Amino acid sequence: MLVYNFLDYYARNTPDLPCLTQHGVTYSYRDVALRSLQLANGLLQLGVCHGHRVAILGENSLEHLLLAMAAGRIGAVTVSLNHRLAPAELAFIISDAETGVLLAPEMKPDAVQELKNLIAGELVVLGEQGADCIEFHPWLAQQSAQVPDVSVTPGDALLQLYTSGTTGNPKGVVISHFNVLSLCAMNDTAAPRRASAGMAAIICAPLFHIGGMGSLLFGIYKGLNTLLHRSFDPLQFVDDVEQYPVSNVFMVPAMIMAILQIPGIEQRNFSNLTQVFYGASPISESVLRKAMAVFQCDFVQMYGMTETTGTVVNLSADDHRRALEGKPELLRSCGRPSVGAEVRIVDSHGKDVATGEIGEIWLKSDTNMQSYYNLPEATAESLTDGWVHTGDAGYQDEDGYLYLKDRMKDMVVSGGENIYPVEVENAIAQHPAVADVAVIGVPDDKYGESLLAFIVLNVDAELEVEELIDFCRDKIAGYKIPRQMRTLEVMPRNASGKILKKVLREPFWQGTERNIG
Ligand code: ATP
Ligand code: MG
Repeated sequence: MLVYNFLDYYARNTPDLPCLTQHGVTYSYRDVALRSLQLANGLLQLGVCHGHRVAILGENSLEHLLLAMAAGRIGAVTVSLNHRLAPAELAFIISDAETGVLLAPEMKPDAVQELKNLIAGELVVLGEQGADCIEFHPWLAQQSAQVPDVSVTPGDALLQLYTSGTTGNPKGVVISHFNVLSLCAMNDTAAPRRASAGMAAIICAPLFHIGGMGSLLFGIYKGLNTLLHRSFDPLQFVDDVEQYPVSNVFMVPAMIMAILQIPGIEQRNFSNLTQVFYGASPISESVLRKAMAVFQCDFVQMYGMTETTGTVVNLSADDHRRALEGKPELLRSCGRPSVGAEVRIVDSHGKDVATGEIGEIWLKSDTNMQSYYNLPEATAESLTDGWVHTGDAGYQDEDGYLYLKDRMKDMVVSGGENIYPVEVENAIAQHPAVADVAVIGVPDDKYGESLLAFIVLNVDAELEVEELIDFCRDKIAGYKIPRQMRTLEVMPRNASGKILKKVLREPFWQGTERNIG
């Protein structure tokens, strides 16, 4: 089975079923299937062959879906680029992926020129009007819609998505049709309320990350109408929920936090929303509890990474309910393995540790990547007998619940004690003055490293370090309490909402390894 089979199935059986809605315009499954066939033929005309990489650059758009389907039909691979990257970073990825064709329908001619100057090889740009590119929309309209005669198999690559670059340079993760279909089956099983054809899903996460792209392809698998937001806008989210019966939405914690900050949010109507999937970075218990109270729907936490095509562990809606009914510790877990997925916790030699002991989390499932593109060494370091090394520390309890501590690279060693900053952040986040918090280790003559808390305060709130220390006393051990704090206007986060700890660490660790990871 191939991912585009689902598009064609709905297009044939229910051609008028809404597939994607963007700026108030709805495209049916027939529309999308037809245009993706035209794009597939157009790419063949340009010389794109089986195994070639085709990139797309821009905010979330219909074209992302068209390209994923079109490339999939001819065995080519979609590279979805982060439009927030600087030209030099884009050029690095385009060259890394050996991409000869770039779809950038909204890119201005100057920007096209600048990018082309940075790339050694030839790059065909399907963009806006301009001397340096093919004008995408009229070009597409001229293409034939016949079914291309190319043999594609489930193990063929479909996507090449880059990791978020939180801990180093982004790496290109090669994801097959089989990986994506396995993800869809896993997500479908994890959903407390099975979505069915005709229901709506909101996508506000970027399509250059697996969270957004995985949700988009899940919508095709299920026959949903995807309400595609160009980028995340909290007000548009609430407006859409009031207007459409939304069965599915995936959000990162930073988005949930932004929605909860909307004045008068408690008075808005969320009765259309049936389930919220969230993950990709740690959520504080206080934010989660508030979100559950405001949205009043099912919540499912997702844990995974680009290398596992997204979620492979989930905290179910029932688990969230049980947490509120007297098992609060469950809210600190990211859940149990999704169907077919396996989790191991290992020590630094790759040996399993005892239940309840902390080690590195390794994951295995049919969603596991085959490799990082053109990086055999990094691939060998990250994969052992089909197990992906996550770089995350955590433990599993006797019921199989996984508790994430933090990224191993963010762990702080202070006075010989290992401290996982996420645990400290969770304690601090409970303070009513705190809107957002990040904790890092800074050099310390006596203890090697000591903790520093960066805090974004709520409007008109005040907080002194002595009060912070007092507040933490009954929540975490003394050695985990930061003795220093600084306030920030905004927390530095990347496009997937992850706190950029390396940016926070930089002034303290210049020129050292710690500066990066
Ligand atoms: P890079 O690998 O380039 O440093 P990255 O690891 O941030 O970047 P992604 O693949 O987008 O890139 O993110 C995967 C990571 O996100 C996981 O390893 C984990 O640290 C974090 N993560 C994912 N889900 C959750 C979750 N539910 N709770 C906490 N952290 C999560
Ligand atoms: Mg990673």
